This record gives sequence, structure tokens and C-alpha cells, in this order.
Amino acid sequence: MIKEIENASLLGRNSFGIDAKASRLVEFGNAAELAAYLAARGHADESTAVIGGGNNILFTEDFRGTLLHCVGTDFAITGNTKNKVIVRAEAGLDWDDFVNRCINLGLWGAENLSAIPGTVGAAPVQNIGAYGAEAGDIIHSVELLDMTTHKESVLAAEHCCFGYRDSIFKHALKGRVVICAVNFALSREPSPILGYGALEHETAKLGSPTLENIRRAVTGIRSAKLPDPAVIGNAGSFFKNPLVPLRKAEELKDRFPEMPVYPGDTSEEVKIPAGWLIEKSGWKGASLGRAGVYEKQALILVNRGGATGKDIIALSEAITEDVASKFGIRIEPEVNIW
Ligand code: FAD
Ligand code: NAP
Repeated sequence: MIKEIENASLLGRNSFGIDAKASRLVEFGNAAELAAYLAARGHADESTAVIGGGNNILFTEDFRGTLLHCVGTDFAITGNTKNKVIVRAEAGLDWDDFVNRCINLGLWGAENLSAIPGTVGAAPVQNIGAYGAEAGDIIHSVELLDMTTHKESVLAAEHCCFGYRDSIFKHALKGRVVICAVNFALSREPSPILGYGALEHETAKLGSPTLENIRRAVTGIRSAKLPDPAVIGNAGSFFKNPLVPLRKAEELKDRFPEMPVYPGDTSEEVKIPAGWLIEKSGWKGASLGRAGVYEKQALILVNRGGATGKDIIALSEAITEDVASKFGIRIEPEVNIW
């Protein structure tokens, strides 16, 4: 059922804890409901955007327009291919509930993505990833509603242009579609991915690499290192890890032999952890007014209490300039700045 909230407070709807408002917030259950609402509404020319759990958005001002928010949470097995099980989940389902339900069904593929805050509908947008896995690896197709034509369509994963924290939803389809449900292809065959950092070791401490043990290990590593937005406002990694040309990375390696370097999307580039660049620039644990850099992970900017979006931006710009002057690399926000 459609629910319209005028002059909606966003304070409890963004993990940075920014006190902003939206002119209107519209909750919808599914694509058909939303299509009917959009076709009938009289204020079609104002800006319209989608918000899930607000875990990857920084509000720098009030949102003047309509924010759409899916509250549909259906989850169902809808089919089988040769060796995969297809699961359909509505966009409003909490991502970690989705992962948990897959694990309870004995389905492999989502376990490394345990405990990522947010909704199923947002997962394809930045192709959420962690501990060597990405949502794009298990997405089969994405069910969309076009905000202008109000037509429904299904986009196969191969057309979603999934890349490192990237997809077509951040480019050609940005602001044009609402993701109403996602279809996943998961495996009944065990396929543990344990190559990332301490994951293998932490899983082994719990026993064999079962789905449950991998989920517990990931959740444990995360909670020891990452700030809980309920305690301190943040949106996870504020910056993307820069992908830099090999030659540039070699130059930096000569100056900083201890600099970590990981494979990039192509063989011509490598990924350098932005957290390392920021820490090396002396920002870990630092503050600028009410905005700060998290003490345990320099990639995460935090709201130390009462910060505005502009406070966070001022800190992020100071860090960006400093890193650029020290390393010649311009780091870019991963967080959506509104
Ligand atoms: P929102 O923040 O509400 O929206 C994010 C973007 O997606 C916006 O552009 C929005 O318009 C768009 N969007 C949302 N829903 C829809 C929809 N239904 N249709 C179309 N567009 C939509 N990210 C990772 O990749 N890996 C991590 O390990 C990770 N860890 C995190 C840890 C913490 C503590 C926090 C706070 C964040 C972390 N994040 C991580 C970032 C965040 O969890 C993800 O980006 C997540 O997908 C955001 O979900 P959301 O529902 O809150 O999306
Ligand atoms: P970490 O393990 O300290 O590693 C720091 C960075 O180095 C990560 O960003 C990671 O890139 C890269 N890295 C480390 N080991 C790697 C490997 N074996 N192969 C490729 N890249 C490697 O990072 P962390 O902060 O504790 O986060 C752990 C995981 O959770 C990471 O995958 C991270 O992306 C994810 N995470 C994401 C967010 C977010 O908001 N986007 C927030 C918290 C955690 P990748 O980021 O590409 O993995």
C-alpha cells in the first residue's frame, strides 16, 4: 500500500545521522503499486529519487522533491537452472536478512556479504562487495520500473555492467529506474571463498568452512573493526579504493615499498587501498569540527555528534587534497552525496 509522508524527517533514515528532511517520502510495496502512484501523481516535474536504508548517502541539504522507498520484503525460491537455485527478493528486504535466509536454505554465494547494512534493492547499485565477493557474482537479473514511462522490465546481470563498486545504475540508468526486486542465482554446492585477509583463519577457528561458520567469521571480523552506525554515524567506506595505472603504482612502490597493492579490474591497473593513503597522510583518528576519521579504519568518516553533511564534506575535501598532494592520486567518494 502507498504511504505518503509530507516534510519527512530523514534523521532516522540515514546511517550518517544527518538531520535532513525530504519534501515528501513515498513508501510502496511493489512495482505495480508504484507505477499506479507515479502515473496518477500531479507533481511529476519535481526531482524524484530512491532511498533504501540510507547507509550509503550523505545529505548535504534537505531533499526538495519525492523520495521513493520500497517496503516490499517478499523472499521466494522461484526456479532452478542446471546447478543454481533462483531466489527472488523484493527491494525492501534487509540485505542481511536475505543473506541469513539463503544460508538457512543451504544456498551458497551470499555468505561473504554478511552484515552489510542496507536493502536488497540497493545491492546492485554499487555492486556491494566484501571479503572477496560481490553481489554481481550472484545476481541473475534485476526487476526495474522506469520512473518516466512507468513501464516494468527485467535487466539480465550481463547488462548491469557490474564492476568494482559500480554498475549501470550509477551511470546510464542513474535517476531513471527504481529497482523493485532482484533475482539471485545461488548454488547448492559448497563453494567457500576464503582467500581474503584473515577469513580462512577466523573460519577455521570455528570449525569447517560451513555457510554458518563463514557467516559467523565475517560478522565477527566486521564487528571488531567497523563502526556500528547505531553508535557512531557513518556510511562505511567514504572513498573508493583508487584504481591506478601500473606505472604510477610502480613509481609509488619505489617511494613507499610497504604500500599494499591489489589486482584491479584489468591487467593495466592495480587497486591501492584508500585507507592506507589516508592513514599514511596522518588522518586516521583526526577530526575537523564535528566530523572525524574513524580510529580503526581510516577509510571511514564518522559523525562525532551533530555534524552536518557540509561538515563531512569539508573533512573529505581536506583529506582528498592532502592525499593528492602527497601521492598524486585523487581519491573519489564511494558514498552518494545529495
Ligand atoms: P541507500 O544508502 O539508501 O542508497 C544507496 C544508493 O542506491 C542511492 O543512490 C540510492 O538512490 C540507490 N538506491 C537504493 N535503493 C534503490 C532502489 N530500490 N532502486 C534504485 N536505486 C536505489 N558497502 C559495500 O559494498 N561493502 C561493505 O562491506 C559495506 N559495509 C558497510 C558498513 C557500514 C558500517 C556502512 C554504514 C555501510 C557499508 N557499506 C558497504 C555501504 C552500504 O551498506 C551499501 O552501499 C548498501 O547497499 C546501501 O544500502 P541502502 O539500502 O542503505 O542504500
Ligand atoms: P581491509 O581488510 O583492511 O582491507 C583494506 C582494503 O584492501 C580493502 O578495501 C580491500 O579492497 C583491499 N584488500 C585487502 N585484502 C585484499 C585482497 N586479498 N584482495 C583484494 N583486495 C584486498 O578492509 P576492511 O575495511 O576491514 O573491509 C573488509 C571488507 O569489507 C573489504 O572487502 C571492504 O571492501 C568491505 N567493506 C566495505 C565497506 C564499504 O562501505 N564499501 C565498508 C566496510 C567494509 P576491497 O574493498 O576491494 O575489498
